[in-house]
Amino acid sequence: MATVCKEIHEWIEEQIEKPIEEWENRQEQRCREEPCNWWMLCLNKLFCWLVWVLVKVIRWVVVTVGKWVVRVVCEVVNLVLDVIGFVVGLILSIPIIGGIIRTVLNWLTEIVWRIVGLIDLGLSLIGVRFEKRMYVGVIIPSRDGRPITTEAQILPQIDKAKEIYKNLCNIKIVYTGACTAGTDAPDGALEIGCDASGFFSDWWLGGSYIEFVSATCKFDGGWRRVLGYGAQIIVYCVPEVLPETATSDTVGCSFTSTHNYVVVEPTASASTAAHEIGHACWLPHVDDSANLMFPSLLSANPTLTNGQIALVRWSKHCVYF
Ligand SMILES: [Zn+2]
Repeated sequence: MATVCKEIHEWIEEQIEKPIEEWENRQEQRCREEPCNWWMLCLNKLFCWLVWVLVKVIRWVVVTVGKWVVRVVCEVVNLVLDVIGFVVGLILSIPIIGGIIRTVLNWLTEIVWRIVGLIDLGLSLIGVRFEKRMYVGVIIPSRDGRPITTEAQILPQIDKAKEIYKNLCNIKIVYTGACTAGTDAPDGALEIGCDASGFFSDWWLGGSYIEFVSATCKFDGGWRRVLGYGAQIIVYCVPEVLPETATSDTVGCSFTSTHNYVVVEPTASASTAAHEIGHACWLPHVDDSANLMFPSLLSANPTLTNGQIALVRWSKHCVYF
C-alpha cells in the first residue's frame, strides 16, 4: 500500500472507527445495566439494544465501504501520479539543466505552499496544532560496490527526529525506510560541501546521482517531490560533509528549500538529522545552546520556540496527509 494511503487508512481507523466502537461499548454497558420497567413492558431496554445494534450495523457498513473506496481511489491516483513523478524525476536527473530546474522548482513550490498555508500558520502560532505529517526516508550511496553505511547506524538519528518533532511540534515523522543505491556514487555525491560549492555541485553529477537514486529508490510518493506538497525529505548519508577545519567539524548540511534532501554523516550525534530537517523547513541557526538550531548542537533534549514550531509546521514538507 502506498505510504500516504496507509496513513489515511490508519487515520480513519483511529479517529472515526475507534471512537464509534468505544461509544458502542459504553452503550452496551448501559443497556445491560438499564432496569427493565415492567410498566413499559421492558420496551425501554429493547429500545436501548435497538440503538446499539443500529449504530453497530451502520458503522460497520459505512466504515468498511468508506475505507475500501478511499483505499482504491487513493492507490490508483497515487500510482498514476507516481509514474508521472518518476518520469519528471528522470528529467530532473539530467546534469546542469535538470539541476537548475530542480532549484527553481523547489523554491517555487515552497513559496506557493507557504502562501496556501498562511491560515494554518496563524493557527499554529496561537497554539492550534493538529497532528501533521512529515515523510522522511534514508538513502545510502555506494562506493566501490558497497554501501557506505548501514540503516542500523543512521536509525538513532531518525528515531531522535521522530521524538523531537512529535513532542515539540505535534508532527508525526512517517519513516519510509532506508534504501541503498545500487550504483556507485560519483565523488560529488560522497563529499558534499556545506557552502556555495555544495549549492553548485548539486547541479552537476553529484546532484544528478542523488536525484536519480531518489526517483528510483523512493518511487512511492515521488510526485510529491515534484509538486512539493508533502515532499519527502531524503536523509542522504555521506562519509564526509565539508568544510572540515581545525576549529569546526561539519557533520550535516541542508540548503533549505533548494533540495529535497539533507545530508548527514551517519556517525554524527543523534539530533543531527532533526537539526538538518529544521533547516529544510526554514529554521535558521539561533544563539541558544539548548535549542535544536544551535550551530554545534549541544543539548541531548533540544527545544524549539513557539515561532520556530510554527515555521516548521508551515513548511511544504509538513502536511496533514
Ligand atoms: Zn545547522
